[in-house]
Amino acid sequence: MPAIELTGRPASPGLAIGALYPLAERTGLSRSAGTPAEESAALTTAIATASAALIAIMAGAEGEGADILEFQVAMLADDELAAPAFAAIVAGIEAASAWRATLDEAIAGYRDGGDAYFAARASDLEDIRDRVLAALAGEAGESSVPPGAILIGRDVTPSLFLSVDWKAGGAIALSEGSPSSHVAMLARARGVPMVVGLGSLPASGPVEAIVDGDGGRLILDPDAGAKSAFARDTAGAADRAAAEAEAALLPAALADGSPVRVLINVAEPEELGAIDPSICDGIGLVRTEFLFHRPAGLPDEETQYRAYLRMLEWAGERPVTIRTVDAGGDKPVPGLTIDGESNPFLGTRGVRLSLAKPEIFRVQLRALARAAVHGNLKVMLPMVTVPGEIDEAARLLDAAVAELAAAGVPHARPPLGIMVEVPAVAVVPELYAAAAFFSIGSNDLTQYAAAAARDIAAVAPLCDAGHPAVAALIANVVRAGEALGREVSLCGDMGGDRRHLPALVGAGLRSVSVAPRLVGRVKRALAALAPDGAA
Ligand code: PEP
Ligand code: MG
Repeated sequence: MPAIELTGRPASPGLAIGALYPLAERTGLSRSAGTPAEESAALTTAIATASAALIAIMAGAEGEGADILEFQVAMLADDELAAPAFAAIVAGIEAASAWRATLDEAIAGYRDGGDAYFAARASDLEDIRDRVLAALAGEAGESSVPPGAILIGRDVTPSLFLSVDWKAGGAIALSEGSPSSHVAMLARARGVPMVVGLGSLPASGPVEAIVDGDGGRLILDPDAGAKSAFARDTAGAADRAAAEAEAALLPAALADGSPVRVLINVAEPEELGAIDPSICDGIGLVRTEFLFHRPAGLPDEETQYRAYLRMLEWAGERPVTIRTVDAGGDKPVPGLTIDGESNPFLGTRGVRLSLAKPEIFRVQLRALARAAVHGNLKVMLPMVTVPGEIDEAARLLDAAVAELAAAGVPHARPPLGIMVEVPAVAVVPELYAAAAFFSIGSNDLTQYAAAAARDIAAVAPLCDAGHPAVAALIANVVRAGEALGREVSLCGDMGGDRRHLPALVGAGLRSVSVAPRLVGRVKRALAALAPDGAA
């Protein structure tokens, strides 16, 4: 039978070949029902089994992965969640149906309640529903996922992902899913190739597959030709990875030897443990949203201070640019963002939200000013649209600094710069001289310039950083930065994409901040470019 090739969306790069492991929809109905007392006992045991399995997985998880599991364990321990199921069992319904109906109702409530944060947690609830159903049916848990398997199905839950030993290889191929899901984020951090949005997948038949996480391809039952192409590609990828690891350790420069700065973007401080600081010129973007997404609620000053301190200590003398929280848009935070906006990407997002909630902003500014004593800290405002927002944020930063001074708390006043990601700023950047530096957010700049949302697959071809308008906006910001004497860098995904580096260099940009694993790749690509961006 010839190989079948399906194309979806890349969610995590890399190549893998392996046996298919279909992710079954669990029903819990393969057991025969007992008396209400037996059914109640069976449900209690199944909940305990599911909870114990999650706690075991939690022991090896950290960061956002651990937070998701903590939320799930807390939900399973919540008597209120299971109460309707136990009531239904007393009324004569068998345990699996009672649990499924109860959880389905709770999931619908999370999903349809109009709160984006709870909607995002609905899949975590689906996972605990299915775990309890599996335990009720006596089904083997995910420990049966063989090493190196290609997980294939509709979607995959974070807890299942975290329970698999990926050291032996493997990959994920989903008919649905999203590159911005929790699992996609975990897959990128662990280097697990992943493709989403493949459309309908065969329920049975193929036994082996190749996943191409860069190209967004799934090849089912690869024939000899596909396998030898895979072997060639993997050998090439291994050689490239070795050359990139070597290049990462060298200073970045163009073909003529002129220097370029390459910094890294950090989403979770846990990532830093595995990174050698000498590969980069500092941290160009810390997305502080990671602190605000924890189930424990909004972070207090001490929690924030400790997290910022850790990053400054890691960087030593190198600069660390910490962005104030960019909640809103596609990143809702309970207790902070505004629910029910008709177009959240154009709504109360980034600095707009921080200025609307000065009591929450104040906590972050105090933590940042305290951390500034311990390194080369720069603070950056997201989504600035008018110069008055910089003035207002500077006033609040000065007030936080004055409070700390009055209380005798060690502190420093970090420079305050801005993200250039709203086209209004990129068109007339000279009006934003109040900013100490500019960092171009090409992800948002592209979606706003193209009027095509960055998270809607149907308009993905329009949301293209390669549009000449984006390069023209960037060149304009570089020119204004030179005229004003302000440093200009770029921290959007465009800087880590080799296809766009000639345009960025050609626009005069000499500083980019990229995902840590892309540092070597970017340095190699820069070394082949002339100062005008020509290859
Ligand atoms: C950007 O918009 O390019 C950016 C770096 O910020 P984020 O992706 O977090 O919106
Ligand atoms: Mg942005």
